[in-house]
Amino acid sequence: MAGKRTFTMIKPDAFEAGHSGAILKMIEEAGFKVVAMKATILSRELAGKFYEVHKERPFYQDLCAYMSSGPIFAAILEKDNAVDDFRKLIGATNPADAAEGTIRKLFATSIEANAVHGSDSDENASIEGNFFFSQFERVV
Ligand code: GDP
Repeated sequence: MAGKRTFTMIKPDAFEAGHSGAILKMIEEAGFKVVAMKATILSRELAGKFYEVHKERPFYQDLCAYMSSGPIFAAILEKDNAVDDFRKLIGATNPADAAEGTIRKLFATSIEANAVHGSDSDENASIEGNFFFSQFERVV
């Protein structure tokens, strides 16, 4: 059965451009409940750990530099079928390919600076949520 939680980040481009409020509104209106959230800045080292799965990809160094370039919001979201529904809400990785009305279509500026992260599986949702939040912080 699909899990009830996913993990997201509002990435540095969207945070810097002041889109966090509009993005959160879309997330809540789509039925997701924010059960943990923090503003933070990833160090280069932590960005590298978070995206370790991509370390052989040609864009890995650029991605880590970008993700540590400024503040982000990290959040755990709750909803039935959370992972799949959230991936639909954010749209394709490349905003040029993202469906109309998706968060990336509306707010992303490039395939790298694509406004938001969304976990791609229940297992990764759990790993990524635990990367940013201890059990103690999940107070909701
Ligand atoms: P996602 O699951 O849709 O976030 O996509 P991936 O897991 O494939 O990639 C992780 C992140 O790496 C993306 O969200 C982008 O920020 C970045 N990324 C993916 N593909 C590329 C690329 O071809 N070039 C660059 N510069 N960044 C990329």
